[in-house]
Amino acid sequence: MKEKFKNIETAVIHAGYDAKEHLGSLTTPIFQTSTFSFDSAEQGERRFAGEEDGYIYSRIGNPTVRALEERIAELEGAEAGLAFGSGMAAVSAILIALTKSGDHILCSQGIYGCTFGLLELMAEKYQITHDFCAMETEAQIEAQIRPETTCIYVETPINPTMKLIDLELVAKTAKKHGIPVVVDNTFSSPYLQQPLKSGCDIVLHSATKYIGGHGDVIAGLAAGTKEMMNTIAKTTLKDVGGVLSPFDAWLLLRGLKTLHVRLDRHCENAAYIVEQLKKHPAVKNVFYPGDEASHDYKIMQKQMRKGGGLISFEINGSKKQAQKLLNDLSFINIAVSLGDAETLIQHPATMTHSGIPEEMRNQMGISDELIRLSIGLEAKEDIWEDLKQALDQLRKA
Ligand SMILES: *Cc1c(COP(=O)(O)O)cnc(C)c1O
Repeated sequence: MKEKFKNIETAVIHAGYDAKEHLGSLTTPIFQTSTFSFDSAEQGERRFAGEEDGYIYSRIGNPTVRALEERIAELEGAEAGLAFGSGMAAVSAILIALTKSGDHILCSQGIYGCTFGLLELMAEKYQITHDFCAMETEAQIEAQIRPETTCIYVETPINPTMKLIDLELVAKTAKKHGIPVVVDNTFSSPYLQQPLKSGCDIVLHSATKYIGGHGDVIAGLAAGTKEMMNTIAKTTLKDVGGVLSPFDAWLLLRGLKTLHVRLDRHCENAAYIVEQLKKHPAVKNVFYPGDEASHDYKIMQKQMRKGGGLISFEINGSKKQAQKLLNDLSFINIAVSLGDAETLIQHPATMTHSGIPEEMRNQMGISDELIRLSIGLEAKEDIWEDLKQALDQLRKA
């Protein structure tokens, strides 16, 4: 494992890039090219045969993208990394690579809406089935592992209920059965949580969120062993083709340089907003893993640096009132996505999770009164003032 930098705060800025190799250019050059010219026919032959390192065609590899892949590998403490055109391109490339017709995937309770959609499609078209599991104890996980289970797929914190899964527990149980554990680490970023260090096998991100951090790019990343990443690179990345553009890779390299600084502030702001929300009479419940009163606080301390920038809360009221709250805000944006400088608010039951059947949604804890906040980088007092005036109006209504 090539972990060159002791501290992640340095690695987010330097890993995977050496200015000396690029005429001293401080920032990574954007290699905006589709193909690469060979010195000779024989060199082309050697490159295709894998006998000589070097670039061939940007869907197979590109230097700007490669720098990003090396950086994410180092940030996650992995042997190798891969970049994708979206978070879903990463999810699909990994799940397709790990399964064949007749296989079974065991998932955490509550996964990203489009991942759910992909699993439904895989079940319908390719007979690759899936189940959901609370994963609270080893026995619970064991009970749902089948001979044909070839992948355990976990999100933690779970969107939008903010429940946590104990990654060490899942990894330990999976290892007994030789099943790889894939973790969608989008909500935490490698700064707050490094699933491979808990024994999981593949980590993936929607880099659209905290890694990009500025709401201006759609991208995905993954990291794991050289062998697994090579298999994916040569099959479901190259042949399905969900690759990242060099310019978008550059945006992510730029975003990553401030990951730790941004996340520290996201977390500080979120902790403050949680305290205020808990005191407001229009608020029924607040869900935040960094809250000492949270059911999952112990797991948070074990595997996360801090509680993160996402909060969900339930109001005393109905769907109509939840919608009114959103409409009464001033600068807080009504938008899905997360991890941006702007504070974003959304209503999961009618937005991100509207595709999930109501009964299942309720089982997952996604009520009509549940609201999700992605706390931005604005002054925490201003964020609270905006939320408070809208919550106060609910009280009066
Ligand atoms: C956004 C998101 C995805 C999908 O990523 P895209 O970049 O939008 O394709 C997957 N998982 C989680 C947890 C997400 O928040």
